[in-house]
Amino acid sequence: MVKLGETEEGGEALMLGLMQDFPLTVDKILDHAARWHGDREIISRSVEGPIVRTNWRTIHGRAKQVTHALQTLGVRLGDRVGTLAWNTANHIEVWYGIMGMGAVCHTLNPRLHPDQILWIADHAGDKIIFTDLTFAPMLLANLHKAPSVEKVVILSDEAHRPEGAGENVIMYETLIAGLPTDAVWGGFSELTACGLCYTSGTTGDPKGVLYSHRSNFLHTLITLQTDVIGLSQRDSVLVVVPMFHANAWGLAFSAPAVGAKLVLPGPRMDGAAIHELMTCEKVTLSAAVPTVWQMLLQHLDAAGETITGLKRVVIGGSAVPEAIVRSFKARFGVDVVHAWGMTETSPLGTIAAMTADLEELPFDDQIPYRLKQGRPPVGVDIRLLDDEGKTLPHDGATFGRLMVKGPIVVKSYFKGKADVIDQEGYFDTGDVATIDQAGFMQITDRAKDVIKSGGEWISSIEIENIAAGHPKAELAAVIGLPHPKWDERPLLLVKLKAGQTATKQDLLSFLEGKIAKWWTPDDVLFVDDIPLGATGKIDKKLLRARHGDHKLPTL
Ligand code: AMP
Repeated sequence: MVKLGETEEGGEALMLGLMQDFPLTVDKILDHAARWHGDREIISRSVEGPIVRTNWRTIHGRAKQVTHALQTLGVRLGDRVGTLAWNTANHIEVWYGIMGMGAVCHTLNPRLHPDQILWIADHAGDKIIFTDLTFAPMLLANLHKAPSVEKVVILSDEAHRPEGAGENVIMYETLIAGLPTDAVWGGFSELTACGLCYTSGTTGDPKGVLYSHRSNFLHTLITLQTDVIGLSQRDSVLVVVPMFHANAWGLAFSAPAVGAKLVLPGPRMDGAAIHELMTCEKVTLSAAVPTVWQMLLQHLDAAGETITGLKRVVIGGSAVPEAIVRSFKARFGVDVVHAWGMTETSPLGTIAAMTADLEELPFDDQIPYRLKQGRPPVGVDIRLLDDEGKTLPHDGATFGRLMVKGPIVVKSYFKGKADVIDQEGYFDTGDVATIDQAGFMQITDRAKDVIKSGGEWISSIEIENIAAGHPKAELAAVIGLPHPKWDERPLLLVKLKAGQTATKQDLLSFLEGKIAKWWTPDDVLFVDDIPLGATGKIDKKLLRARHGDHKLPTL
């Protein structure tokens, strides 16, 4: 590649374009929202209880107050400031207040174990942590485990100050009260670090992904494409996916970028609370992991309620079950859009938008494609490699390691020793996938969860998705157990719906004909609990620890 100031072979100097140097920094997104969509509302279910309303203009002013406060507290360019908070307008103000001044907003996941949260805060070197009343007792009790943290700001007012809180605890409303609602933002390179998010740590120690302003800005533009999330100013967007989980899939950037109305569920993500916000705020689009939608559908069944006005739900984080896609369409006319991504990809990597050819098909024939994780948008490239690094065909059947490349994809981890990309710039996602002739990628497993039987691979995800469709099943999970002859064989774990009973044979008959015969689980166990990890995915590590010594009848 010819670099700036260098001369190409043959003597031609690189010619630069003559357009403006306009660093792609995220403060410009909120500036834009305040200036052009100032009255558009942001509604939050507050941690204190009531539903509170604000707008982009007010959020902008308060975010600038946060910047002033941080500067007074000694935060400088590049310093890390943590947030351990629900999705609320306050949290958005804090994000922009931190990022706008060139500090790094580090979202901490409260669903992790306290030791892990404090380990991550300390590893990141967080100076200050903004937190909700919900997490303040846990954080304050464990603060000694993260010596880098000097102050804790609680996102509430003096009336809610926890008893006995020391001098290092500041209440948010007191912190920003009376400060100017204008402050200088930006003025630094678009390559400046902007956000930090640690991976869920299902594969060893959590690793920090350090987003730049440029990568977040480009991710915003990528997700705004019609065939991606495609928000509009007219949308009312309910962001259930937490801001601490891979940047709420970019919605805290893309909503202000287009001036959409934002609806934030705060601490309540149960079916009734979500349904109330959806109805009262005329929500048109929402995004969350499958378990949230399962809870909502169960609530609607139990309460005999319906959904109106909702047009699309974006589902990702784990594979979307067929029953959800069908239910939303048949009962409410809502399109489920299945997406794949990871913390390392900002997060959106692929999305199962229908192509012109598929759009012509009846809904039933579209289903196999809607259940896949989809195709990459411009700016993201994917490919499949085998273990020797050979590129695999797009035939919809050959499994391979999913590799991803682009300006929104990690190059190396925070404080990591080396780059984590191959010679051609691709990052190994750790997912195993197929890509079909229409370009639709399908995740078959995490590399470490795939079941290796007789030299071939069995997709645990595929079996569990089908099993979860059994009318009596609430959740299903499949793990591989060691087997002397085959290397590994699948064990199916099923949590039944309350009050239901079923036999091993019921489940196996249900799978028959839907999967290859040799994929049939060697045994079925009915369990009371299928644990979910901190980002709503089935915790296979824990399941292997719990059931790893189960004796298969085929042994
Ligand atoms: P995280 O970084 O916590 O968001 O986890 C990323 C991982 O979640 C990916 O590498 C996949 O294994 C999994 N994942 C994300 N989206 C999907 C999806 N739509 N279907 C199946 N697995 C998914």
